[in-house]
Amino acid sequence: MTDTPTQLFIGGAWADAADGATMPVDDPATGEILCHVADAGPKDAQRAEEAAVRAQEEWARTAPRVRSEILRRAYEIVVERTDELAHLMTAEMGKPLAEARGEVAYAAEFFRWFSEEAVRIEGGHGVLPDGRNRMLLSRRPVGPCLLITPWNFPLAMGTRKIGPAIAAGCTMILKPAPQTPLSSLALAAILKEAGLPDGVLNVVTTSRAGEVCEPLLRGGRIRKLSFTGSTNVGRLLLAQSAEAVVRTSMELGGNAPFIVFEDADLDKAVDGAMVAKMRNMGEACTAANRFFVHSSVVEEFGRRLAERMGALVVGPGTRDGVDVGPLIDRTGRGKVEELVADAVERGARVLVGGRTPEGPGHFYPPTVLTDVASDSRLMDTEIFGPVAAILTFDDEDEVIRRANDTPWGLVGYVFTEGLDRALRVSERLEVGMVGLNTGLVSNPAAPFGGVKQSGLGREGGRVGLDEFLEYQYLAVPVR
Ligand code: NAP
Repeated sequence: MTDTPTQLFIGGAWADAADGATMPVDDPATGEILCHVADAGPKDAQRAEEAAVRAQEEWARTAPRVRSEILRRAYEIVVERTDELAHLMTAEMGKPLAEARGEVAYAAEFFRWFSEEAVRIEGGHGVLPDGRNRMLLSRRPVGPCLLITPWNFPLAMGTRKIGPAIAAGCTMILKPAPQTPLSSLALAAILKEAGLPDGVLNVVTTSRAGEVCEPLLRGGRIRKLSFTGSTNVGRLLLAQSAEAVVRTSMELGGNAPFIVFEDADLDKAVDGAMVAKMRNMGEACTAANRFFVHSSVVEEFGRRLAERMGALVVGPGTRDGVDVGPLIDRTGRGKVEELVADAVERGARVLVGGRTPEGPGHFYPPTVLTDVASDSRLMDTEIFGPVAAILTFDDEDEVIRRANDTPWGLVGYVFTEGLDRALRVSERLEVGMVGLNTGLVSNPAAPFGGVKQSGLGREGGRVGLDEFLEYQYLAVPVR
């Protein structure tokens, strides 16, 4: 912790906030303050914007191979420092060390993937229908970007945006979540070490998100917003982006259905449920929120899931053998408690968990609820905690209709051994991603993102780079 930067990173240098403000970073396992970091205000945001705008032209002209090799070096440094970064993440966010190590590997992969894509940005050439005119298409960086990230994946949500922005030749300002600024600051130090020129990446940590970001979005110099967070905040930022017609990528909330058909392999379904529900203590946009289980297998599925959930060890993420760390803060845990209480009031049965433990830290036990009523609040609210809510269905059409009956459409999980049914159901689900007999879809090489109110655009894969590129079309008459 002693070497972790705690200042703002602007124009390649570390600096305090202009008004000297700082904010605390808490350890969710104890509720105690870990350290203080700089708390940027609008003046700091303006300085970061100037640095990004100043660096843009030269950075756009930098050879793709140079950009690629900076990313490659950064990938190697992140992998080398896996342990250090994992400890930092566990300290500020709470996830168990094994999961934090997994996130470091996942985060690093975005740098490796986009280091490979940076040298494969292709334009085009075509003959127009009149046979005389030609078109030359070139790709160019969209320009200075504002990147806003949430606290749940403190490192990977950053690299998933920074990687393609660097590959495309964009400069950027990163605003991480105030609960987890340290991973982003550590990442900035690594990118500097990897040779990233001054001003290409600027990091502003702040407790005043609105004051810092709104002038940037409305000011006309930031050309792109890439946001990961809740749908409500995303909607507000879309409205702010409209004024200066800022291009946007939005990775928003989810309400994933997890469907277990009568012909599912229950071993696979229970394994998948553990991953889809318990990755990141349930604090993931991809977390299974509504388990729809066929009435003929619901009892067995519920019993086996409750056994597995009940066997998980809850405790501080740094302790050996711990599977489930604390939730992010008091508010996050309070919301989970309320959702469980509401479901129970409406008739749900608690198979395991459901009781907040005494003592410090924001812990909540793995919980399985069955016989959940369709009008329970958790049916249309992201639980963001280790609670599996089981509902019963009898018919394929009925379960598809219920799964789609939500404003969100990020991901869905389907468990069946029938290929016809797997394809039929996946195609009818209104989601951007489907896990077929698996509880994990995230992969840097795949386009991650949702439909409906889960977002706009995709991150990762080849298309992840398109989000940071514009086309220019050159008309060439040939006489
Ligand atoms: P959040 O409250 O929407 O915050 C996300 C980020 O936006 C934070 O950095 C936050 O900073 C910032 N923010 C909030 N209000 C802002 C404003 N007016 N102007 C500029 N920035 C603002 O979400 P969260 O609670 O951190 O994260 C959980 C949410 O993220 C869930 O809904 C989850 O599903 C979603 N998520 C989606 C994906 C995906 O890929 N689709 C991935 C991970 C998470 P402050 O906290 O200071 O307000």
